[in-house]
Amino acid sequence: MLENKKDNQTELIIPDVLISSNQDDLSEIVEEESAIEKNPFEMAKKQIDIVAEKMGLDHNIQKFLKRIERALIVSIPIKMDNGDLEIFEGFRVHHSTIRGPGKGGIRFAPNVCLDEVKALATWMTWKCSLLDLPLGGAKGGICVDPRFLSRTELEKLTRRYTSEIINIIGPDIDIPAPDVNTNAQIMAWIMDTYSMNKGRAIPGVVTGKPIEIGGSVGRETATGMGLFFVLEAMCKKLNLDLKSQRIVVQGFGNVGGTIADLLYKKGCKIIAISDINGGILSPEGLEIDKLLEWTRSGKILKDYKDKRFRFISNEDLLTTECEVLIPAALENQITEINAPQIKCKIVLEGANGPTTPEADKILSQKGIYVVPDILANAGGVCVSYFEYVQDIHAYFWDLERINKELKVIILKAFKEVYELSKHKSTTLRTAAYIIAISRIVKAIELRGIFP
Ligand code: NAD
Repeated sequence: MLENKKDNQTELIIPDVLISSNQDDLSEIVEEESAIEKNPFEMAKKQIDIVAEKMGLDHNIQKFLKRIERALIVSIPIKMDNGDLEIFEGFRVHHSTIRGPGKGGIRFAPNVCLDEVKALATWMTWKCSLLDLPLGGAKGGICVDPRFLSRTELEKLTRRYTSEIINIIGPDIDIPAPDVNTNAQIMAWIMDTYSMNKGRAIPGVVTGKPIEIGGSVGRETATGMGLFFVLEAMCKKLNLDLKSQRIVVQGFGNVGGTIADLLYKKGCKIIAISDINGGILSPEGLEIDKLLEWTRSGKILKDYKDKRFRFISNEDLLTTECEVLIPAALENQITEINAPQIKCKIVLEGANGPTTPEADKILSQKGIYVVPDILANAGGVCVSYFEYVQDIHAYFWDLERINKELKVIILKAFKEVYELSKHKSTTLRTAAYIIAISRIVKAIELRGIFP
C-alpha cells in the first residue's frame, strides 16, 4: 500500500504484488487456539493480521489498526420497579474515527462485554470504509437481558446510559443506532436525553429514530433491503434464479424478519426460520406474512401451530439443506462443528460475525460462497448515513430516493468486492477486507500521526 503512494492521489489502490493469489483467506486463522476464536476481538485482530500480511502493510500501521481509539465503561444504577437497586454495566467504544465520526449500534444483551463491543466497533470501521461512507467505526452495549425489564426500567436504563456516555457521542463525534434488542423507541429516548442536556433538539445524535422526530423512511428495513440487493446480485453472478432457491433464515428480528419478508413478497421460498427459542421448517415454504404478524404481537415461533410446519432447533436449522442460508441472529453461529454439515450454495451474513474463521475455511473448501457481513448487512449503516445527512440538512427524502441511493452504494461495493475476489482468486471476505483496510490506511497516510 505504502509503495503505491503518490502525491494528491486519493483513489483506492490495491497493490497487485502485495496480495498472494492462492488460498489467502481470512480462514487461515484456524491455526489459532479455539479460545482465541471465541473471543470476538481476538478474532477481529487476527483478521487484520491476515489481511495486513497479504497486503504487505507497514507493521506500524498494522499495530495502529489493531488498537481501538477509546472505550468508556460505565455503571448504570437503576431503581427497579420493586424498589431494589440494580447496577448494570455499559460500554461505548470508538475503534476508528479517522474517516469521520464514529457510527455503530447499541445492543442490550446478557453476553455483552468489552471485547465483544471492541470487535463490533472494529467491524463497523471496515463496513463504513467498504461502502466509502465518511464515517468511522463505533459500537455500544449494555450487559442486560431486556426481556426481564419493564418499560419504565428500560427507559431509565437507556436514559442513564446516555447520560453516562454523553461526552463521547454527538453528531460530530459518534452517532449510535439500533442493534440487537434496541429499537426506534430506545433511539428516541437517547435523542431526548441528549437534547435535554444540550438545551435544544439534536436529532442527528442517533439514527434509527422514529420518523416523527427526525428518523428516515426506509431505515427500519434498510439492513434487510441491502441483503436483498446483494443476494440478487450474487445470484445473477452465479446464474441462479432467486425465486427457485430454497432459503433458510436464522433470527426473525429486524434483520431476519425483513429479509424473509422481502424475499417472500418477491415469490421466493423460505423453508425455515428461527428465533432464540428455535425454528420452524416447511419444505413447501413458510407463510412469512402470517408469521411476522404472530411474532410482532410478542409471541414466539415455537408456539405457532400449523400441521404443515415442523419445529426444529437452531442447530438443525443451520444444517438444513437449502441453497441460501442467512444467519441473521448473532455472532459465532457457524463454527467448525456445524460447518461440515452445512449444505447450501450461498451463506449471506445478515448478523455481524456469524461465521468463525475455522468455519469460513471449511465452507470455502466446500465451494460455498460466503457473502461477508461487512458487505451483506451494510444496508443498515448506509441508510443510517442518509438519516444523519437528512438531519444535518433538515431536509428529508422519500422512500424511492432512499432505496435507489442505497442500491447504488451497496451494489458498487458488491461489484468491487466480487471483481477483486475473482481477480485475486480469494474469498469475498478477504477481498472486502482488503478494500476496506486500504481506504483506512490511505486516510492514515494522508492525515499523518499527530503530533
Ligand atoms: P433483533 O434483536 O431485532 O433480532 C434478533 C433475532 O435473533 C431475534 O429473532 C432473536 O430471537 C434471535 N436470536 C437471538 N439469540 C439467538 C440465538 N442464540 N439463536 C438463534 N436466534 C437468536 O436484532 P437485529 O437488529 O435483527 O440484529 C441481528 C444481527 O444483525 C446482529 O448480529 C446485529 O449486529 C446485526 N445487524 C443488525 C443491523 C440492524 O440494522 N438492526 C444492521 C447490521 C447488522
